[in-house]
Amino acid sequence: MGGHYTKCLKIYMNKPGKLKKVLRHNSRKERTTGYATARCIRCGRMGRGLIRKYGLNICRQCFREVAKEMGWKKLE
Ligand SMILES: [Zn+2]
Repeated sequence: MGGHYTKCLKIYMNKPGKLKKVLRHNSRKERTTGYATARCIRCGRMGRGLIRKYGLNICRQCFREVAKEMGWKKLE
């Protein structure tokens, strides 16, 4: 978890109040529904491009790599 903003948090080490504010405004919102809750079981990628159909739960990028091993065939 966490995004690119975690790299900049060092600046606020001496300012706990400000740090709290930055964290509050930048942290990912906890969600219970929607595509943002889905996570690839192979690479951990979140958000769009995930295949949940057939209980795959992997992203399209990973699917491309493992589809052949899993026995999927590309249709002409
Ligand atoms: Zn993936």
